[in-house]
Amino acid sequence: MKCLLCGQIMKTVLTFSSLLLLRNDDSCLCSDCDFTFERIGEENCPNCMKTGLSTKCQDCQLWCKEGVEVSHRAIFTYDQAMKDFFSRYKFDGDFLLRKVFASFLSAELKKYKEYRFVVIPLSPERLLDRGFNQVEGLVEAAGFSYLDLLGKREERASSSKNRSERLGTELPFFIKSGVTIPKKILLIDDIYTTGATINRVKRMLEEADAKDVKTFSLVR
Ligand SMILES: [Zn+2]
Ligand SMILES: [Zn+2]
Repeated sequence: MKCLLCGQIMKTVLTFSSLLLLRNDDSCLCSDCDFTFERIGEENCPNCMKTGLSTKCQDCQLWCKEGVEVSHRAIFTYDQAMKDFFSRYKFDGDFLLRKVFASFLSAELKKYKEYRFVVIPLSPERLLDRGFNQVEGLVEAAGFSYLDLLGKREERASSSKNRSERLGTELPFFIKSGVTIPKKILLIDDIYTTGATINRVKRMLEEADAKDVKTFSLVR
């Protein structure tokens, strides 16, 4: 089997510990590539997993004042290896790469048994451009389904705005008409940076009567 990222042939080494720990053998990454991605450390904000502190961070306190109790989990840090991955996956449009983190995602998403999954959508223009929603790809590759509840209108690229500008603009997301909002939702995105997008969508779903909305991203 070849590593999905670098193409090198993977040797299957059966060690005593791999047998003992029943390690997932269907990893799509060779150990060299696997080691380049950094897991989020033990010490992090209990609400959003921002690293370097162990109490509620300033951002989460701000969200709290705005009526949002941040409840976010993520697996990896957004380091250079991850930036390279997303540039190949999203911008070069290499859809095969959706499988790279499938086993990691599957192990995490399994923990949300009572939750229905909802993916942050792309605008129709962006979807047409990229050909696929990268978050849907990740969730599907991990073996999970999701509800089609949300839509997104086209907007100016949000990376050119700061936090207050982002929060000041009208939310480009909307709940599709005629859908039923489940009580428990896990809202999933690929990358959490300021949390502006995902936490505003969380609030929108809560205002639409979802009782418990948690958020999740592969990277933070
Ligand atoms: Zn590799
Ligand atoms: Zn936080």
